[in-house]
Amino acid sequence: MNSKITSMNRTHFSLFFLSLLILAGCKQSSDNEGEALVALRYEQNETVTYDEAVRFYQLLDNHYSEAKLLTYGKTDVGKPLHLFVMDSDKHFTPESAKQTNKRIVLINNGIHPGEPEGIDASLMFADDILRNKDGMRRLLDNTIICIIPVYNIGGMLNRSAYHRTGQTTPKEAGHRGNAKNLDLNRDFVKMDTKNAKAFAEIFRLWQPDVFLDTHTTNGTDHPQVITLIPFQTDALPEPLATFYHDSLITYLYAQMANAGFDMIPYVDYWNTTPKDGIKLNPQTPRYSTGYTGLFNSMSFMTENQIYANYPDRVHSVYHFKKALVTFTNEHSDRIGKLRKEADKFTSKQKEFVLQWDVDSTRFRMIRYKGYEGETGISPVTGLPRFGFNREKPYDTIIPYYERHIPVKTVKAPEYYILPQAWEEVVERLSINRTDMKRFTKDTSVTVQRYIIKEVKTSPYKYNWHRNHTHVELDIATEKVVVREGDYLIPVNQPANKYIVEMLEPEGQDSFFRWNFFDPILEEREYYSSFGFEENALRYLNEHPDFRKEWEEAIKNDTSLAGNHRAQLGYIYQHTEWADNVTKKYPVLRIEEKIQLPVK
Ligand SMILES: [Zn+2]
Repeated sequence: MNSKITSMNRTHFSLFFLSLLILAGCKQSSDNEGEALVALRYEQNETVTYDEAVRFYQLLDNHYSEAKLLTYGKTDVGKPLHLFVMDSDKHFTPESAKQTNKRIVLINNGIHPGEPEGIDASLMFADDILRNKDGMRRLLDNTIICIIPVYNIGGMLNRSAYHRTGQTTPKEAGHRGNAKNLDLNRDFVKMDTKNAKAFAEIFRLWQPDVFLDTHTTNGTDHPQVITLIPFQTDALPEPLATFYHDSLITYLYAQMANAGFDMIPYVDYWNTTPKDGIKLNPQTPRYSTGYTGLFNSMSFMTENQIYANYPDRVHSVYHFKKALVTFTNEHSDRIGKLRKEADKFTSKQKEFVLQWDVDSTRFRMIRYKGYEGETGISPVTGLPRFGFNREKPYDTIIPYYERHIPVKTVKAPEYYILPQAWEEVVERLSINRTDMKRFTKDTSVTVQRYIIKEVKTSPYKYNWHRNHTHVELDIATEKVVVREGDYLIPVNQPANKYIVEMLEPEGQDSFFRWNFFDPILEEREYYSSFGFEENALRYLNEHPDFRKEWEEAIKNDTSLAGNHRAQLGYIYQHTEWADNVTKKYPVLRIEEKIQLPVK
């Protein structure tokens, strides 16, 4: 427990300390390797149940003074979200953790409970660290390890052998949807679930330097047991980006190879077969890595190969966790400095990328072992179907496209103004600890406002929403009255990337795209075919230039010719009569620093 104690007085100290521990509720701490407390059955192709997982973490908490099982809010199924924290100096609150110069690693498991390797591996990892297996307690020297045992509790409680059709092991596992049947790995910013709100609270309170979310994939078949999805390097500020890519990611691949796991990047085809190369698709904030990356965490998803045997899958993600924490522990000071610099950069950043694309000109060659894909005859239907032939393995070198170029950028304003009416948005910004001020009185200000020029909406429902897939904007300068209590959001904070991504309508996962502002797309005022005539006629008489424009339009636009309602509509839409709310985006921009009555 303390390497500074000499061997001469260790016995006395230990006796004294042991008696203290007994008084403190039998919590143990020893430099010797202890017995495992967690009994897993992954070797028998079984994964723990939700109750077992919580019971094991509680057991570790009861037994070791370096561990604590906390809860944060409730999940949709009614049970609290757990966070298991390990620290050699017993900093079990984010406030006290911040007083240390330790790095924080957050590991999220069971977001898709049918993909449970990480749930078992984290239990074994925590147990091994606490019992000091092979001296593993040293991983807590410079690191505080936080583990979410199971994120999708509702999904895990819906346990069955039949949820994942191509997955034969473990024998039973949970369901992908949460208690509301939503996919939590699309919910990090729209936050339709209590799970997402509890996660954001944990994430923003603890502010992890390093983040891992564990998954399983059935995308393709290859002999490698584990694949990796990092965050897009190019979206991190330098020099953190180079450190993340050149030092951390390189180390992870090397350590996994040393541990006997030939980890490869997640297999997303560049073309139609992995032989042409694979790519890292940019991750938007609906996903765990995309969300955590907005706050400059060094983030990863592991994807275990569904067709590999379960014990190997568990071992591989266990070793990944060990490698990730080992690196963090060994580079604690450097990571601390780089992250501080990155947050400082982000706080001053004015230009933001809203959309990335894979850079087709930059790639590195990697070794790839695959199985030949071929069209065979299905034994079920007797019809041709594509599959992988395990009798035909190959071993080759392929390009990996892992770098990204900006496709859409935006210059951020000095401040956004968010009217208090949009409380769903206010709530999400607050949970994410956005620094917001409120107007102390009704105030007239000159602002920039987006007009939604064109919007295309998905015809399909997707995780409770119909996303706006295409957004085109105009921008106008307006004098508006901002109401007492409305929010002023300065773009001068470490949460800048989150703020801009979410409030700019063109952000890939913006509040606008996820339907939070949809009422502004509807018309509340309208015109009557006969009731508007008197005003329309007076308008034409008083505005001869507009009358000319209107007459030209009728001549040139066949949809207007001979159509009374359309001609009247042209007047309505192109004059002051038009509804002054419809398509006017309610979040306003102030481009320059000014004094405003806020607090
Ligand atoms: Zn998954």
